[in-house]
Amino acid sequence: MKAIIIGAGIGGMSAAAALDQQGIECEIYEAVKEMKPVGAAISVWSNGVKCMNHLGMGQIMDDLGGPMHHMAYLEGFSGEQMTQFSLAPLVEEVGERPCPVSRADLQSRMIDWWGRHKVQFGKRLESVSQNEQGVIATFADGSSAQGDFMIAADGAHSIARDYLMGHKVERRYAGYVNWNGLVEIDESIAPAEQWTMFVADGKRVSVMPIADNRFYFFFDVPLEKGLPQDRSTVIKDLKGYFEGWAEPVQRLIDAINPDTTNRIEIHDVDPFSPLVKGRVALLGDAGHSTTPDIGQGGGAALEDAVVLGRCFAASCDIEGALRCYNDARLERVKDLVLKARKRCEVTHGVNPDETNAWYDELRNENGTGILSGLSKTILGGPLG
Ligand code: FAD
Repeated sequence: MKAIIIGAGIGGMSAAAALDQQGIECEIYEAVKEMKPVGAAISVWSNGVKCMNHLGMGQIMDDLGGPMHHMAYLEGFSGEQMTQFSLAPLVEEVGERPCPVSRADLQSRMIDWWGRHKVQFGKRLESVSQNEQGVIATFADGSSAQGDFMIAADGAHSIARDYLMGHKVERRYAGYVNWNGLVEIDESIAPAEQWTMFVADGKRVSVMPIADNRFYFFFDVPLEKGLPQDRSTVIKDLKGYFEGWAEPVQRLIDAINPDTTNRIEIHDVDPFSPLVKGRVALLGDAGHSTTPDIGQGGGAALEDAVVLGRCFAASCDIEGALRCYNDARLERVKDLVLKARKRCEVTHGVNPDETNAWYDELRNENGTGILSGLSKTILGGPLG
C-alpha cells in the first residue's frame, strides 16, 4: 500500500512517521526547494510531545525543548506582575512537559529523521484526481505521482482543501498582526525559565525560552489587514505601537534583529467537514487552520497523525480507515479552532470590556484557572 503525502511540514512528516509504523510505503512531495518555515518557534504542548514520543521522535523534543518551567503575566505599561506560577502541577497532571522549540530546527530534525533524500522537494501540488483504485497528484512542474491514497498536509493555503470542498476556501483575518523571532536570553527582559507575557490595550508581548539560551519572542498588535510592511521600519513601528510600555519591552525591541523578524497577519479558517473525500484526507493546517492563540496548531497536526496511524492499524480498507480518521478528528479540531478564536478575541480587545475583565481575572489568578484550561485542552488529545 502506498501513500502520497503532500507537504513536509509538521503535519506531513508526522503523518509519514505514523503510516510507516503501520508498514505503509510513503512518498513525500514538498512544494519548496528549501524549507523556510513561517514563524521562528512554536510551543509544542504536552499533547504534541506525547504524539512525538508515540511516533518515535521523542528525542527531537528532548534535544530542542526549552526550559519553560513558569508562566507569568505582567501589565504592559507598568511591568507590574499580574500573576506568576509554576507549570510543574500541569506537567504532573498531564504526564508530559511542554516543549517550546525553534521551528526551523524542529522542521529540519523531522525531515532528517525521515531521511532528507527521501523527500521530493520542488514539487508543488497543482491538482488531484482519484478513482476506486487510487489517487493521482499532478505537480506544477508537469510531473505526477500515483498512490493508493493521499494525505494532504499542504498547510493553511491548501490546494487539496479546495479540491475536497469543491470551491476556493477563504481564510478569515483574525484582526491582528504578529511579529516574531529569536533573541539571546536576557534576564533584564524576563526570567530565563519562564514564559512571560506583557498585556495591555489588546496588545501582547511574549518571550518564551527555547534551547540554546534563546527567547522566542512575539508582539501582537490589533491592526487592519494589508498595511505596508518594510523591514527597515520594524523597530520604529514596534517602538510606536508599544510607546510608553515597560522598560523590558523597550529592551526587547532594541534587541531584535529586523532581518530575521517575521511579520504575519493572523488568519484562520471556519471549521468545515468532512476532512476526507474517498482516498484523499486533509491533515494539519490543511484541515483545521487556526489562530495561534492557544498554541495548538502544530499539536493538532501531530494528533491527526497519531489517529491516522491508529485507524490504519485497525483496518486495511483504505476508505474505511480514512473515514475512521475523519470521524475521530472532526469534533476535536473544530473545538481547538473555535477555542483559539475565542481566546484571540479576548486577548486582542475585540470587545474591550471582555478584555479588561480578563486583565482583572489575571490579577486574581493563582495559576489554578489557567492550568486547568491548559490541562483540559491537553488531555482532550488522543493520547490523553
Ligand atoms: P505547514 O507547517 O504550513 O506545512 C505545510 C507544508 O506544505 C509546507 O512545507 C509547504 O511548503 C507545503 N506545501 C504548501 N502547499 C503545497 C503544495 N501545493 N504542494 C506541495 N507542498 C505544499 N502551533 C503550535 O502547536 N504551537 C505554537 O506555539 C504555534 N505558534 C504559532 C505561531 C504563529 C505565528 C503561527 C502562524 C502558527 C503557529 N502555530 C503553532 C501553528 C503551527 O505552525 C501550524 O499549525 C503547523 O505548522 C501546521 O503544520 P502543517 O504541516 O499542517 O502545515
